[in-house]
Amino acid sequence: MIVLILAAIILLLGGVYLFVNRLTQRVAEAQKKLVELTTVDDLTQLYNRRYFFERLHQEVERAKRYQRPLSCVILDIDNFKKVNDTLGHLSGDQVLRDISSIIKSTCRQCDLAGRYGGEELIILLPETELEGAMTIAERIRQRVEQHQTVDGKGETIAVTVSLGVASLAPQEIEDLDKDERLIQYADDALLLAKKEGRNRVKLYHPHQG
Ligand code: GH3
Ligand code: MG
Ligand code: MG
Repeated sequence: MIVLILAAIILLLGGVYLFVNRLTQRVAEAQKKLVELTTVDDLTQLYNRRYFFERLHQEVERAKRYQRPLSCVILDIDNFKKVNDTLGHLSGDQVLRDISSIIKSTCRQCDLAGRYGGEELIILLPETELEGAMTIAERIRQRVEQHQTVDGKGETIAVTVSLGVASLAPQEIEDLDKDERLIQYADDALLLAKKEGRNRVKLYHPHQG
């Protein structure tokens, strides 16, 4: 009799253990999903704008405090409107997804890639000086140029991108009055890349005006 009661208790405890274990797993999965939903952009799987700015603030503070270099790259797809107009919005979305994957596979784990606007993507490169940032931007430009997107209808699409780079050395980061200033510098460089004919990387540097 005692043996039977003991066996029943053991079985019951085993059941409770399995139940709690499964519940914990479900809660962990739900938490992960929630974090993803609030930080990641659905289409590109890059960080969303809100989370990117939050991290930008942290990285600028860290770079200032420890006197570290910090760089930023903004990318804009060239003549993207034409892709949407001729092949449709869904094909455009696929191009955007492909470029985001290229960015992810080209950057380091510690770099922060986000969706800045519609077809404008942004990368923050902590601990990275001018030369490193220019190398990464040029590598992304080349990989996009060599890539062909195949859309849902089987059409191949080739696009190019323009990139603006802003880089602050440790002695310059101290003078950065606002986090957004770094983005503004990269945006100015991007504008220059567009003006000079697209499919290129341009640099903004405070000392170069
Ligand atoms: P430029 O070389 O000067 O950048 O030319 P552009 O045609 O790329 O620039 P413009 O700013 O005129 O157009 C950007 C286009 O990007 C217009 C908009 O429909 C498209 N776009 C923005 N977000 C998305 C998106 O999420 N999906 C798709 N398919 N298109 C988008
Ligand atoms: Mg644009
Ligand atoms: Mg564009």
